[in-house]
Amino acid sequence: MDYQALIEDVLSDVHAYRGTGKVASYIPVLAQADPHKFGMAIALEDGSTFVAGDGEEAFTIQSLSYVFSLALALHHVKSALWNHVGREPAGSPVNSIIQLEIEKGKPRNPLTSSGALVVCDQLIGRRGREEACAELLEFLRTRSGASDIGIDESIAMSESRAGAFNRSLAHFVAAFGNLSNPPEEVLSLYYRQCSVAMSCRQLAQAGLFLAFDGVDPVKGEVVCTPSRARRINALMLTSGHYDNSGDFAFRVGLPGKSAVSGAILAIVPRVGVVSVWSPGLNDAGTSLVGAVALERLVERTGWSIFV
Ligand code: GLU
Repeated sequence: MDYQALIEDVLSDVHAYRGTGKVASYIPVLAQADPHKFGMAIALEDGSTFVAGDGEEAFTIQSLSYVFSLALALHHVKSALWNHVGREPAGSPVNSIIQLEIEKGKPRNPLTSSGALVVCDQLIGRRGREEACAELLEFLRTRSGASDIGIDESIAMSESRAGAFNRSLAHFVAAFGNLSNPPEEVLSLYYRQCSVAMSCRQLAQAGLFLAFDGVDPVKGEVVCTPSRARRINALMLTSGHYDNSGDFAFRVGLPGKSAVSGAILAIVPRVGVVSVWSPGLNDAGTSLVGAVALERLVERTGWSIFV
Protein backbone atom coordinates (compact mmCIF):
# COMPACT_ATOMS: atom_id res chain seq x y z
CA MET A 1 0.00 0.00 0.00
CA ASP A 2 1.19 3.54 -0.74
CA TYR A 3 0.75 4.96 2.77
CA GLN A 4 1.85 8.46 1.87
CA ALA A 5 -0.77 8.61 -0.88
CA LEU A 6 -3.29 7.18 1.59
CA ILE A 7 -2.90 9.93 4.18
CA GLU A 8 -2.75 12.61 1.50
CA ASP A 9 -6.09 11.24 0.24
CA VAL A 10 -7.53 11.40 3.76
CA LEU A 11 -6.23 14.97 4.02
CA SER A 12 -8.28 15.90 0.95
CA ASP A 13 -11.28 13.90 2.22
CA VAL A 14 -11.49 16.17 5.28
CA HIS A 15 -10.75 19.43 3.50
CA ALA A 16 -14.37 20.63 3.63
CA TYR A 17 -14.53 19.99 7.39
CA ARG A 18 -11.45 21.98 8.35
CA GLY A 19 -12.17 24.85 10.70
CA THR A 20 -15.35 23.22 12.02
CA GLY A 21 -15.90 22.18 15.62
CA LYS A 22 -15.27 24.29 18.71
CA VAL A 23 -11.80 24.86 20.15
CA ALA A 24 -11.71 24.15 23.92
CA SER A 25 -11.90 27.40 25.80
CA TYR A 26 -11.86 26.40 29.47
CA ILE A 27 -8.06 26.31 29.39
CA PRO A 28 -7.21 29.87 28.26
CA VAL A 29 -4.06 29.01 26.30
CA LEU A 30 -5.82 26.21 24.39
CA ALA A 31 -8.50 28.69 23.29
CA GLN A 32 -5.89 30.33 21.05
CA ALA A 33 -5.48 27.20 18.88
CA ASP A 34 -6.24 27.56 15.17
CA PRO A 35 -9.20 25.28 14.28
CA HIS A 36 -7.96 25.01 10.69
CA LYS A 37 -4.91 23.04 11.72
CA PHE A 38 -4.95 19.40 10.77
CA GLY A 39 -2.15 16.92 11.13
CA MET A 40 -1.97 13.18 10.70
CA ALA A 41 0.69 10.49 11.00
CA ILE A 42 0.92 6.74 10.60
CA ALA A 43 3.68 4.65 12.20
CA LEU A 44 4.18 1.06 11.09
CA GLU A 45 5.85 -2.08 12.39
CA ASP A 46 9.10 -1.53 10.48
CA GLY A 47 9.49 1.95 11.98
CA SER A 48 8.43 3.82 8.84
CA THR A 49 6.26 6.87 9.40
CA PHE A 50 4.04 8.82 7.03
CA VAL A 51 2.97 12.36 7.81
CA ALA A 52 0.46 14.77 6.27
CA GLY A 53 -0.70 18.36 6.90
CA ASP A 54 0.49 19.76 10.23
CA GLY A 55 1.66 16.36 11.42
CA GLU A 56 5.10 17.64 12.49
CA GLU A 57 3.72 20.47 14.62
CA ALA A 58 3.83 20.03 18.40
CA PHE A 59 0.69 20.46 20.51
CA THR A 60 -0.04 19.46 24.10
CA ILE A 61 -1.11 15.85 24.37
CA GLN A 62 -3.61 16.52 27.20
CA SER A 63 -5.51 13.36 28.07
CA LEU A 64 -3.60 11.19 25.58
CA SER A 65 -1.08 11.23 28.42
CA TYR A 66 -3.52 9.13 30.49
CA VAL A 67 -2.73 6.13 28.28
CA PHE A 68 1.02 6.36 28.85
CA SER A 69 0.83 7.07 32.57
CA LEU A 70 -1.55 4.13 32.88
CA ALA A 71 1.00 1.83 31.22
CA LEU A 72 3.67 3.08 33.65
CA ALA A 73 1.47 2.87 36.76
CA LEU A 74 0.51 -0.71 35.87
CA HIS A 75 4.20 -1.49 35.53
CA HIS A 76 4.79 -0.21 39.08
CA VAL A 77 1.74 -1.35 41.02
CA LYS A 78 0.35 -4.07 38.73
CA SER A 79 -3.20 -5.24 39.38
CA ALA A 80 -3.34 -3.39 42.73
CA LEU A 81 -4.24 -0.38 40.58
CA TRP A 82 -7.74 -1.80 40.19
CA ASN A 83 -8.35 -1.38 43.92
CA HIS A 84 -8.33 2.35 43.25
CA VAL A 85 -9.98 2.72 39.84
CA GLY A 86 -12.55 0.70 37.89
CA ARG A 87 -12.76 -0.50 34.31
CA GLU A 88 -16.29 0.36 33.27
CA PRO A 89 -17.24 3.03 30.75
CA ALA A 90 -18.48 6.18 32.45
CA GLY A 91 -21.02 7.40 29.92
CA SER A 92 -20.79 10.83 31.50
CA PRO A 93 -18.70 13.95 30.84
CA VAL A 94 -14.99 13.48 31.49
CA ASN A 95 -14.89 15.55 34.67
CA SER A 96 -18.23 14.45 36.12
CA ILE A 97 -18.31 14.33 39.91
CA ILE A 98 -21.79 12.83 40.39
CA GLN A 99 -20.84 9.23 39.69
CA LEU A 100 -17.79 9.64 41.89
CA GLU A 101 -19.96 10.46 44.89
CA ILE A 102 -22.25 7.50 44.30
CA GLU A 103 -19.29 5.17 43.86
CA LYS A 104 -17.46 6.45 46.94
CA GLY A 105 -14.45 8.09 45.34
CA LYS A 106 -13.47 5.20 43.07
CA PRO A 107 -13.37 6.56 39.51
CA ARG A 108 -15.10 4.51 36.83
CA ASN A 109 -11.99 4.02 34.71
CA PRO A 110 -8.44 5.40 34.27
CA LEU A 111 -9.39 7.41 31.18
CA THR A 112 -11.63 9.88 33.02
CA SER A 113 -10.08 12.93 34.72
CA SER A 114 -10.62 11.51 38.20
CA GLY A 115 -9.29 8.12 37.08
CA ALA A 116 -6.19 9.76 35.62
CA LEU A 117 -5.63 11.60 38.90
CA VAL A 118 -5.72 8.30 40.78
CA VAL A 119 -3.27 6.84 38.25
CA CYS A 120 -0.95 9.84 38.79
CA ASP A 121 -1.13 9.25 42.54
CA GLN A 122 -0.12 5.62 42.08
CA LEU A 123 2.65 6.64 39.69
CA ILE A 124 4.04 9.03 42.29
CA GLY A 125 3.88 6.30 44.92
CA ARG A 126 6.41 7.11 47.59
CA ARG A 127 9.03 8.76 45.40
CA GLY A 128 7.63 12.26 44.69
CA ARG A 129 6.10 13.91 41.64
CA GLU A 130 9.37 15.14 40.11
CA GLU A 131 10.69 11.62 39.74
CA ALA A 132 7.38 10.34 38.39
CA CYS A 133 7.22 13.17 35.88
CA ALA A 134 10.81 12.55 34.78
CA GLU A 135 9.99 8.87 34.27
CA LEU A 136 6.99 9.68 32.11
CA LEU A 137 8.99 12.15 29.99
CA GLU A 138 11.79 9.65 29.56
CA PHE A 139 9.27 6.98 28.57
CA LEU A 140 7.76 9.23 25.89
CA ARG A 141 11.19 10.23 24.60
CA THR A 142 12.38 6.65 24.35
CA ARG A 143 9.20 5.35 22.78
CA SER A 144 9.03 8.12 20.18
CA GLY A 145 12.78 8.35 19.58
CA ALA A 146 12.58 12.13 20.10
CA SER A 147 14.91 13.20 22.90
CA ASP A 148 13.71 16.81 22.88
CA ILE A 149 10.12 16.16 23.98
CA GLY A 150 9.29 18.46 26.88
CA ILE A 151 6.55 20.15 28.85
CA ASP A 152 4.88 23.36 27.73
CA GLU A 153 5.01 25.03 31.14
CA SER A 154 2.81 27.96 30.06
CA ILE A 155 -0.02 25.52 29.35
CA ALA A 156 0.57 23.63 32.60
CA MET A 157 0.31 26.98 34.41
CA SER A 158 -2.78 28.02 32.47
CA GLU A 159 -4.45 24.71 33.32
CA SER A 160 -3.56 24.96 36.95
CA ARG A 161 -5.03 28.46 37.17
CA ALA A 162 -8.21 27.36 35.43
CA GLY A 163 -8.25 24.03 37.21
CA ALA A 164 -11.18 24.30 39.60
CA PHE A 165 -12.83 21.17 38.21
CA ASN A 166 -9.75 18.99 38.47
CA ARG A 167 -8.92 20.42 41.87
CA SER A 168 -12.43 19.54 43.05
CA LEU A 169 -12.08 16.00 41.70
CA ALA A 170 -8.70 15.45 43.36
CA HIS A 171 -9.92 16.67 46.75
CA PHE A 172 -13.14 14.70 46.40
CA VAL A 173 -11.23 11.47 45.67
CA ALA A 174 -8.87 12.28 48.56
CA ALA A 175 -11.84 12.79 50.89
CA PHE A 176 -12.80 9.17 50.22
CA GLY A 177 -9.28 8.07 51.11
CA ASN A 178 -8.37 7.12 47.53
CA LEU A 179 -5.20 9.26 47.21
CA SER A 180 -2.03 8.50 49.11
CA ASN A 181 -0.28 11.76 48.18
CA PRO A 182 -1.50 15.33 48.82
CA PRO A 183 -3.99 16.37 46.11
CA GLU A 184 -1.80 19.35 45.05
CA GLU A 185 1.15 17.00 44.40
CA VAL A 186 -1.04 14.76 42.29
CA LEU A 187 -2.50 17.73 40.41
CA SER A 188 0.96 19.06 39.68
CA LEU A 189 1.99 15.82 37.94
CA TYR A 190 -1.39 15.68 36.21
CA TYR A 191 -1.11 19.18 34.71
CA ARG A 192 2.42 18.56 33.63
CA GLN A 193 1.65 15.26 31.92
CA CYS A 194 -1.24 16.93 30.08
CA SER A 195 1.14 19.70 28.95
CA VAL A 196 3.74 17.48 27.30
CA ALA A 197 4.13 18.80 23.75
CA MET A 198 4.43 16.27 20.92
CA SER A 199 3.68 16.04 17.21
CA CYS A 200 1.46 13.51 15.43
CA ARG A 201 4.54 11.70 14.17
CA GLN A 202 6.02 11.40 17.67
CA LEU A 203 2.72 10.22 19.16
CA ALA A 204 2.23 7.55 16.53
CA GLN A 205 5.72 6.23 17.23
CA ALA A 206 5.22 6.38 21.00
CA GLY A 207 2.06 4.25 20.79
CA LEU A 208 3.54 1.45 18.66
CA PHE A 209 4.00 -0.97 21.56
CA LEU A 210 0.22 -1.03 22.02
CA ALA A 211 -0.27 -2.29 18.46
CA PHE A 212 2.26 -5.10 18.86
CA ASP A 213 1.41 -6.97 22.06
CA GLY A 214 3.46 -4.67 24.26
CA VAL A 215 6.63 -4.93 22.20
CA ASP A 216 8.21 -1.95 20.48
CA PRO A 217 8.57 -3.52 17.02
CA VAL A 218 11.29 -1.12 15.95
CA LYS A 219 13.65 -1.53 18.89
CA GLY A 220 12.47 -5.05 19.75
CA GLU A 221 12.03 -3.97 23.40
CA VAL A 222 9.35 -5.43 25.65
CA VAL A 223 7.47 -2.43 27.05
CA CYS A 224 4.67 -4.37 28.74
CA THR A 225 3.15 -7.84 28.69
CA PRO A 226 0.80 -8.79 25.84
CA SER A 227 -2.16 -9.01 28.20
CA ARG A 228 -1.49 -5.54 29.59
CA ALA A 229 -1.33 -4.05 26.08
CA ARG A 230 -4.56 -5.84 25.21
CA ARG A 231 -6.26 -4.49 28.32
CA ILE A 232 -5.13 -0.91 27.73
CA ASN A 233 -6.55 -1.23 24.21
CA ALA A 234 -9.81 -2.57 25.66
CA LEU A 235 -10.08 0.46 27.94
CA MET A 236 -9.40 2.80 25.04
CA LEU A 237 -12.11 1.16 22.97
CA THR A 238 -14.72 1.32 25.73
CA SER A 239 -13.75 4.58 27.43
CA GLY A 240 -11.27 6.54 25.31
CA HIS A 241 -13.55 9.25 23.98
CA TYR A 242 -15.57 10.74 26.83
CA ASP A 243 -19.24 10.03 26.41
CA ASN A 244 -18.89 9.45 22.69
CA SER A 245 -16.79 6.30 23.02
CA GLY A 246 -19.66 4.22 21.65
CA ASP A 247 -20.03 6.51 18.66
CA PHE A 248 -16.29 6.38 17.99
CA ALA A 249 -16.30 2.56 18.12
CA PHE A 250 -19.29 2.57 15.78
CA ARG A 251 -17.72 4.94 13.27
CA VAL A 252 -14.02 4.01 13.47
CA GLY A 253 -13.79 0.68 15.27
CA LEU A 254 -10.29 1.08 16.69
CA PRO A 255 -9.01 1.40 20.28
CA GLY A 256 -8.23 5.08 20.72
CA LYS A 257 -8.02 8.10 22.98
CA SER A 258 -9.23 11.64 22.33
CA ALA A 259 -7.87 14.73 24.03
CA VAL A 260 -9.17 18.24 24.51
CA SER A 261 -6.36 19.69 22.39
CA GLY A 262 -7.95 17.93 19.40
CA ALA A 263 -5.52 15.01 19.33
CA ILE A 264 -6.61 11.41 18.79
CA LEU A 265 -4.43 8.33 19.09
CA ALA A 266 -5.75 5.21 17.34
CA ILE A 267 -4.23 1.75 17.63
CA VAL A 268 -4.45 -0.65 14.68
CA PRO A 269 -3.51 -4.01 16.24
CA ARG A 270 -0.70 -5.81 14.36
CA VAL A 271 -0.50 -2.98 11.82
CA GLY A 272 0.56 0.28 13.49
CA VAL A 273 -0.65 3.51 15.04
CA VAL A 274 -2.44 6.50 13.59
CA SER A 275 -2.52 9.90 15.25
CA VAL A 276 -4.47 12.93 14.19
CA TRP A 277 -4.70 16.46 15.49
CA SER A 278 -7.22 19.16 14.74
CA PRO A 279 -8.30 21.51 17.54
CA GLY A 280 -12.02 21.95 16.71
CA LEU A 281 -14.03 19.57 18.93
CA ASN A 282 -17.48 18.02 18.66
CA ASP A 283 -20.01 18.43 21.47
CA ALA A 284 -18.53 15.51 23.44
CA GLY A 285 -14.96 16.84 23.24
CA THR A 286 -13.47 14.65 20.48
CA SER A 287 -11.75 16.31 17.53
CA LEU A 288 -14.47 16.72 14.92
CA VAL A 289 -12.19 16.66 11.87
CA GLY A 290 -9.90 14.09 13.49
CA ALA A 291 -12.76 11.61 13.94
CA VAL A 292 -13.90 12.13 10.33
CA ALA A 293 -10.33 11.56 9.14
CA LEU A 294 -10.07 8.27 11.04
CA GLU A 295 -13.45 7.20 9.72
CA ARG A 296 -12.27 7.83 6.14
CA LEU A 297 -8.96 6.11 6.80
CA VAL A 298 -10.71 3.00 8.07
CA GLU A 299 -13.09 3.00 5.09
CA ARG A 300 -10.12 3.16 2.75
CA THR A 301 -8.06 0.48 4.54
CA GLY A 302 -10.52 -1.85 6.27
CA TRP A 303 -8.50 -1.40 9.48
CA SER A 304 -11.47 -1.57 11.89
CA ILE A 305 -10.95 -4.33 14.46
CA PHE A 306 -14.50 -5.45 13.66
CA VAL A 307 -13.42 -6.09 10.04
N1 GLU B 1 -5.82 18.71 30.96
C1 GLU B 1 -7.16 18.53 30.52
C2 GLU B 1 -8.10 18.64 31.71
O1 GLU B 1 -7.82 18.11 32.71
C3 GLU B 1 -7.29 17.22 29.85
C4 GLU B 1 -8.68 16.92 29.38
C5 GLU B 1 -8.75 16.07 28.15
O2 GLU B 1 -7.88 16.07 27.29
O3 GLU B 1 -9.73 15.37 28.08
O4 GLU B 1 -9.11 19.24 31.70
